[in-house]
Amino acid sequence: MSARDPLDAVVVGGGVIGLSIGWRAACSGLAVAVIDPTPGHGSTWAAAGMLGPVGEAHFGEDRLALLNVAAARQWPAFARDLEEASNRAIGYVASGTVLAAMDASDRRVIDDVLTFQTDLGLSPRRLSSRECRELEPLLSPGVVGGAEFPDDHQVDNRLIVDALLAASDRSGVTVIIDEVSAVNSKDGRVTGVTLRNGGTLDSGAVVVAAGCWSGGLGGLPHQVIPPVRPVKGLTLRVRASKGTPVLTRIVRGLVHGKSCYLVPREDGTVVIGATMEEKGFDLTVQVGSVHDLLRDARAVIPAIDEYELIETTTGLRPGSPDNAPLIGRTSMEGLFMATGHYRNGILLAPVTADAVVSLLDGKGVSDVIGSFGPDRFDSQQVGPPSGPVGVGT
Ligand SMILES: Cc1cc2nc3c(=O)[nH]c(=O)nc-3n(C[C@H](O)[C@H](O)[C@H](O)COP(=O)(O)OP(=O)(O)OC[C@H]3O[C@@H](n4cnc5c(N)ncnc54)[C@H](O)[C@@H]3O)c2cc1C
Repeated sequence: MSARDPLDAVVVGGGVIGLSIGWRAACSGLAVAVIDPTPGHGSTWAAAGMLGPVGEAHFGEDRLALLNVAAARQWPAFARDLEEASNRAIGYVASGTVLAAMDASDRRVIDDVLTFQTDLGLSPRRLSSRECRELEPLLSPGVVGGAEFPDDHQVDNRLIVDALLAASDRSGVTVIIDEVSAVNSKDGRVTGVTLRNGGTLDSGAVVVAAGCWSGGLGGLPHQVIPPVRPVKGLTLRVRASKGTPVLTRIVRGLVHGKSCYLVPREDGTVVIGATMEEKGFDLTVQVGSVHDLLRDARAVIPAIDEYELIETTTGLRPGSPDNAPLIGRTSMEGLFMATGHYRNGILLAPVTADAVVSLLDGKGVSDVIGSFGPDRFDSQQVGPPSGPVGVGT
């Protein structure tokens, strides 16, 4: 095994969460290995890369909304550090987001959400239909009003994977292309992991960051198995052909009660998303889902009719019973969770990585993240989450 043995920490899973933890841990001087059979190709690959603390603030999720705001504040510095450490661009763009309603009922829903967001101390701005189109000229003339979220930005989730892998390499993280079959322990304390190929790694700490697969890891005692489940999502990638007008900012639409979004990248690609389906680990791209998504996106931005459809991708969000992540120590000594990031794992990566590294260093975490410890589910029956209805990243 090429990893420094024994390690200070093994991270199980190399999505945006595991790779961010690995890189930040190495920066703080820890000997760390990240293990994943296909790094960056889980939910992280399918995502749209929105960093949307305001657009993602939903009824009943007040604490999560505040965590999302804290996470968004960390992004500019994280993006700068990562670009410098990797010598790669990650497409962080602070262009803001416009939310558009397509009928009076959609408008009323948006008005209610804006009141809730404003009560939380967030800063959405109500817009008339004319103001919406001034902000984004490609919006349909059928838009009846909406809102602007100036603080909701974006990053290219696929460029982040490349950058995290490069930064990890440069900072001494050992990335192992394999699967962890079991977490090993002795006398209630973590001792390392066993790999699918039969090898073992000794480590004083193990961080479970295996997204929606975290609950299936071998060797975890019943009481620390994280209650995460896959929530399927479809994104489409389309591209403006030469001479076709391009979007200037992220557009979210509410179309007769259904949500969609369009996220324009600097290279002319637009990511359209997303469906939310409880279908276990199924990753099939279904014709009906593609149709519904395109129908709603076309209603908001008719110009995409002229775009080329270049990709359909499904991914599995790591959902949790309260739609919030599980970040922190478990009751098994040396075992940490960093999973369940559901709709906002790209947004939450910096704040999660810093919290986990702080815990690995034997320090504490801030109050805003402290309440998302995995122990909050210890005595609960796990059931499906309640919402939000029809809205998804
Ligand atoms: C359609 C869609 C759109 C989204 N849009 C956004 C968005 O705009 N903004 C946002 O913030 N979030 C968004 N998300 C959510 C975001 O993608 C996730 O929250 C985030 O990627 C979770 O990261 P992760 O590293 O925990 O999981 P993943 O990216 O799924 O990574 C988990 C990794 O663990 C590995 N693994 C599994 N089992 C093992 C094992 N036994 N051993 C080793 N490795 C293992 C897998 O191979 C995988 O690479 C979206 C998600 C979807 C599906």
